[in-house]
Amino acid sequence: MKELDRPRYKIIGEMSRFDERDNVHARRELEPDTPEWKKYYQDHAEWEEEDLKTKLLPGVGNVGHPWDLLMLRSQVQIRSTLGRNDFVDGPVSQEKMGIDPIRATEKVKGLARHLGADLVRIGPLNQAHVYTHVGKTKHSPDKIKGASISLPHKNAISIALETEIDLIKTGPVLPELLEIVRVYSQLARISVVLAAYIRSLGFPARAHNSHNYQVLCIPIAIDAGMGELSRMGALITKELGPCLKLATITTDLPLAFDPPVDIGVEEFCQDCKICAKNCPSGAISHGGKVVVRGVEKWKIKPEACYRIWNETGTDCGICIATCPWTKPRTMFHNLCKEIATRKHKAGLWMSIGEELLYGKFRPKPAPDWMETPDLSVWEKYKKLREHL
Ligand code: SF4
Ligand code: SF4
Repeated sequence: MKELDRPRYKIIGEMSRFDERDNVHARRELEPDTPEWKKYYQDHAEWEEEDLKTKLLPGVGNVGHPWDLLMLRSQVQIRSTLGRNDFVDGPVSQEKMGIDPIRATEKVKGLARHLGADLVRIGPLNQAHVYTHVGKTKHSPDKIKGASISLPHKNAISIALETEIDLIKTGPVLPELLEIVRVYSQLARISVVLAAYIRSLGFPARAHNSHNYQVLCIPIAIDAGMGELSRMGALITKELGPCLKLATITTDLPLAFDPPVDIGVEEFCQDCKICAKNCPSGAISHGGKVVVRGVEKWKIKPEACYRIWNETGTDCGICIATCPWTKPRTMFHNLCKEIATRKHKAGLWMSIGEELLYGKFRPKPAPDWMETPDLSVWEKYKKLREHL
């Protein structure tokens, strides 16, 4: 793993901020024939037809056995509560603690790990990663859709939590989503506690968790050296591969930054296209990078991906399940990751070996405490893509 002066992604021209109202989840919150719908699609006519079709699908969190759906829903309330404005932010203590940045960094990282985070890295907050406007409000009635966002914090703490590989590999079915929701709920708790701790030290701090982001967590984690951006659009880390979820805490507490890293993902993804070949929606590019808001990267098609999510009722995750970086932390796999991060060209042989050994995606069975899920939607898409 090489430490760098700046992240590996190439900036072409000027980086620009993302409007959360353009996020596919935010668009699904709009109701057809309402003034909000008409106003939005007047400016974004290119998405209206596809979004209308997606509205007719069951939706994420609405497919599965009723007994198991309740396991999911029983976590939603707490996750939504932890995403409320008065949980993610709050008053700052009037008494500022004189704590030097190195010691403050040790405390913040130590507390994050103590609370359950698997990875913690700290970097600068690039304003290009701050949303321009609030888009998602469904789970947070105290948020105002369209409100402009100003977040003047200088620093960002990225925290990651591992997702359990066996559940991710069950496919686009409820056990996979249950694991994602568990991890996001835990991240919400950790981020809220960390932000509250920093405010109690006398410095502003805001948690950004899954029901209340004001920032893009992935590029912030890349700037803090947690890993690199992959072809499938997810962060890949040396320790956990792409098998993780993220939250961010932004703050003005002076902290020591971690350097960005080169772990060889860029070269690995150049040669390996396993995620693109397995993606049931065709959302992942087989080709080269393009410039998106000033940054060169592989662009995924969010509308195609989101269609699968809404049809299967999950967040799919086949790309993550099939990625060669998604491996248990055994000695053998750790050695492979070590080689991949040091010898960039090894990625080509590893991805060929991966395809020969594991072939196409085959879902793992659900755990015995859950009902057997229905994989027919995935089967349908798999057949469709086999004929392309
Ligand atoms: S989540 Fe599923 S549909 Fe979306 S990009 Fe990954 S494999 Fe494709
Ligand atoms: S499956 Fe291959 S191409 Fe896709 S993200 Fe993983 S390493 Fe990159």
